[in-house]
Amino acid sequence: MLKRITGYHQDADQHWVAELECGHGQHVRHNPPWEVRPWVLTEEGRQKMIGTTLRCMICAAPFTWPAQK
Ligand SMILES: [Zn+2]
Repeated sequence: MLKRITGYHQDADQHWVAELECGHGQHVRHNPPWEVRPWVLTEEGRQKMIGTTLRCMICAAPFTWPAQK
């Protein structure tokens, strides 16, 4: 489920959240060595990533619980 980034906002902890075309948001942290996204730290970097795709974890979780069918 790759979704294009349409914009960003920051959450209450100042972490950047990418806004995806599906309407979901996804954290894009720069937290090395686990998450390495130096581009998220600059306005220029973030703008460059608009239009690129991220895997939306919410769209990629098609399960409904309880799933009976
Ligand atoms: Zn989504």
